[in-house]
Amino acid sequence: MSKTKKSRIQFNIERCKGCGLCVLYCPKGLLRMSEELNSQGNSYVEIIDPAACNACGICFRMCPDIVIEISEQAGESDGEENASDGQSARK
Ligand code: SF4
Ligand code: SF4
Repeated sequence: MSKTKKSRIQFNIERCKGCGLCVLYCPKGLLRMSEELNSQGNSYVEIIDPAACNACGICFRMCPDIVIEISEQAGESDGEENASDGQSARK
């Protein structure tokens, strides 16, 4: 049974200045800039496929404005939906 990391990634889009560094450095190409603007008039970061994010933290480290928050959740790669040992995963 291999352990995997699941992530919950969140963005404080009002802080985003649209520099695009996170988009450039995501190794999985999961990030993009929005077509809409935040209240500061900036395009802001969006994630294309949250389920594919492995919480590597690169985007978090690249962002100069603390827009990105990542919480890592350890989980079994094959046991999330059929945990039979009484240790069901929290959502
Ligand atoms: S944590 Fe890693 S995989 Fe997830 S969006 Fe950021 S750079 Fe991409
Ligand atoms: S690195 Fe930070 S400020 Fe720049 S686009 Fe990404 S989230 Fe926005």
